[in-house]
Amino acid sequence: MSARTIDGKAFAATVREKVSRHVARIKSEVGLTPGLAVVLVGEDPASQVYVRSKGRQTREAGMNSFEHKLDADASEAALLSIIEKLNNDPAVHGILVQLPLPGHINEDLVINSIDPSKDVDGFHISNVGLLGTGQKCMVPCTPLGCLMMLRDHHGSLSGLNAVVIGRSNIVGKPMAQLLLKDSCTVTIAHSRTGDLPDVVSDADIVVAAVGRPQIVKGDWIGKGATVIDVGINRVERNGKTALVGDVDFESASKVAGAITPVPGGVGPMTIACLLANTATACCRANGIAEPESLTA
Ligand code: NAD
Repeated sequence: MSARTIDGKAFAATVREKVSRHVARIKSEVGLTPGLAVVLVGEDPASQVYVRSKGRQTREAGMNSFEHKLDADASEAALLSIIEKLNNDPAVHGILVQLPLPGHINEDLVINSIDPSKDVDGFHISNVGLLGTGQKCMVPCTPLGCLMMLRDHHGSLSGLNAVVIGRSNIVGKPMAQLLLKDSCTVTIAHSRTGDLPDVVSDADIVVAAVGRPQIVKGDWIGKGATVIDVGINRVERNGKTALVGDVDFESASKVAGAITPVPGGVGPMTIACLLANTATACCRANGIAEPESLTA
């Protein structure tokens, strides 16, 4: 048996298309243009690439993109002051502070200074609490993208056994909350989990968010399971750098029912969901009906 490869690139294109259509509707019906502000501190090359890509895709979806760049040695107070201005700017519906921040800046303090209704990353403590209690909130982009792909593949997720490997605040924990909200039976595995292969073997859905290249092997996976690989790991191969996931794609795709590749799986969905969250935030701030398929 060979698994269906879930094409995240194509799926993300359909999400962006839906966002563009919704943005056009918001513009024509209420004369508003959703706006996303991205704040970057320092010159981390990977962060600069992400920020450029976010700006380009935001504009392509018909939304306004605002970029704020600060030097690596900018003070925490300077960053908080920018966030306060963005919180009070009616043209800005979403605010994203690119992480990680330099060590002298308190990340929690910064994230929790963002207006929760503009927190398109879904990391503000209010949104974390709302998600944990199953209420309407801004949902973190990467788990939202995984959920959209799972819903698309399975239809209903109700009653399925899901194992999330990884318990980070950014991926693992919100992913588990979303699956629970969709009535899965959820297990969260992590670095101290005893027999990980045994835990994984019972799952109908496996979400791997570990950050260890190809740690999840094909013989761990139950026959026909759906495997979502969040991991992005750089490895050296034949003198070149290659990107691999947390799942050993070759062996896993022989047993799984469906699987996301790396690259081209979860990665493209993350920015698509950021755009979706910005459109959703704009709708909520202005009492406009939001498109259900773009939220959790
Ligand atoms: P993290 O380092 O914050 O968390 C990793 C988690 O994995 C931890 O909870 C830890 O307990 C668990 N873990 C570590 N070693 C383990 C082991 N041997 N067995 C079982 N569990 C183990 O990482 P993160 O921010 O959650 O990211 C995880 C991966 O997802 C990384 O590769 C990251 O680059 C990737 N990522 C991708 C996207 C995307 O857009 N596709 C977004 C965010 C993160």
